[in-house]
Amino acid sequence: MEGSVESRTSHEVDNWLRWLPRWHPGTHRTRARLCRQCFGSPVIAAAGLTEDVPHAVQHALAMRMKIVVDASVDEYTEQHLPLLSRELRLDEVRRARRVYRPTEGLDPEHRGLDLDPPTPKDSPYLFTFGELAGLPNPDDSDELDVPAPPLSADEKAAVLREVAIADAYAAEAGRRLCVELARHRLRMRAAVAEFVEPQVQALLADLESTLDSPHWRRES
Ligand SMILES: [Zn+2]
Repeated sequence: MEGSVESRTSHEVDNWLRWLPRWHPGTHRTRARLCRQCFGSPVIAAAGLTEDVPHAVQHALAMRMKIVVDASVDEYTEQHLPLLSRELRLDEVRRARRVYRPTEGLDPEHRGLDLDPPTPKDSPYLFTFGELAGLPNPDDSDELDVPAPPLSADEKAAVLREVAIADAYAAEAGRRLCVELARHRLRMRAAVAEFVEPQVQALLADLESTLDSPHWRRES
C-alpha cells in the first residue's frame, strides 16, 4: 500500500537525509521563542535527535513528519468520513472565495463612514477603499457561493463524531510514525554525525578563537 504511515515515514526520512548535507549553520534564523513543533516533540525523541542537534535540523524532520500525519489523516477522512470531508471541502471553498471586504469587521465607530480620506489635490490614489468595496466578488454568480443551509443539531453531532474519529486516527498515525521512525534512528544519527556535527564543532572552535582574540580581551 503506497500510502501507509510506515512507507510514508520512511520516504520522508529519505527526503530529510537527502536534504541534510545541504544544511549549514546560519542558513536559518534563530528563533526567539521555543518552537511548538519541536520542543518536547515525541517525533524528535523517537528519531533520537533530542540532544545536541540544531533546531533547524530537528525542525526539518518535524515538518516532514507532520506531512506524513496530515496526508494519512486526509486520506482516511476522504475515504471513511463523508460528513467531515464535506465540511472541510465547503470550508476550503469559502476560504478560497473570501475577497477583501473593507466594510466588514469595522468597529462600530467606523461603520458607515466614508472609506477613504478626502483626496488631496494633485495626489490621486492608485486605488481607493471605496473602489475595492464596490468591486463585485468574482464568484458572486457562482452557486457554490450561496451559503449552505446551517446544520441541524443531529448533523452537527454526526460531524463532531467524525471529528473525534479523525482525531483518534491522527493519534494512531502519530504513534505508528514514531515506531517506524525509531527504526531509522541509526542512519539518521549517522547522517547527523557526518554532516551536522563537524559544522557545529567548527562553529564552536571559531567562536572560541574569536573570544580568545585580542579584540575581546578585557583591558585591565
Ligand atoms: Zn521547530
